[in-house]
Amino acid sequence: MGVTGVAHVECPACGRAQDVTLVQSINARNEIEAKRALLAGELNALACACGRTTPLFTTMLFVDPDADLYVRVCPDGEAQIAEAVTLFRASGATGRLRVVPSPNALREKVKIIDAGLDDWAIELLKVILLATIGDLERIMLFDRVDHEAGVLHWVLFDETNTQPRPHQSPLAAYARIVATAKAPPATEMQIDRAWAVSAAQALVSGAN
Ligand SMILES: [Zn+2]
Repeated sequence: MGVTGVAHVECPACGRAQDVTLVQSINARNEIEAKRALLAGELNALACACGRTTPLFTTMLFVDPDADLYVRVCPDGEAQIAEAVTLFRASGATGRLRVVPSPNALREKVKIIDAGLDDWAIELLKVILLATIGDLERIMLFDRVDHEAGVLHWVLFDETNTQPRPHQSPLAAYARIVATAKAPPATEMQIDRAWAVSAAQALVSGAN
């Protein structure tokens, strides 16, 4: 495993204090188990003997040299995100450099890239799909692609953003975005909902 730390935390369910190992760096090429745990939501979580599992938010650097993907997780807000962008710029790294606010967002990025898709087009499509249901605040996460059936599988939360439900959309709509929209410049590291909303507006005004 990469850089690790230990956090002393209390279980919110039973109050028992315990040590949890935190993984703060993953290289997907040789840390297969850490990547599996990340995707399963088991990484950096307090799995208490009482049965409650509590995710812990920590900074993390995820590197997948084969996919040319570099992601920094910055759960502590804007200042930390700005610092991560500066660190990436100074590193001289090229490829897909991404800064995200949560392990969930990292997990989604990894799923998208592993599926061979472009995250910017997925984020744009998400905004378009949410606009059609009339609720841009809804949590929607990419899950997987089924090329044979020609569909994308998502997790779409309910109106209160508490209950996740499976959702599908045609893969053709994704392909249309890739064919017609312009990919963001390499300097754009925050490919998220806010980015997609302004990119979608530019797309619509450009089409008129
Ligand atoms: Zn507990």
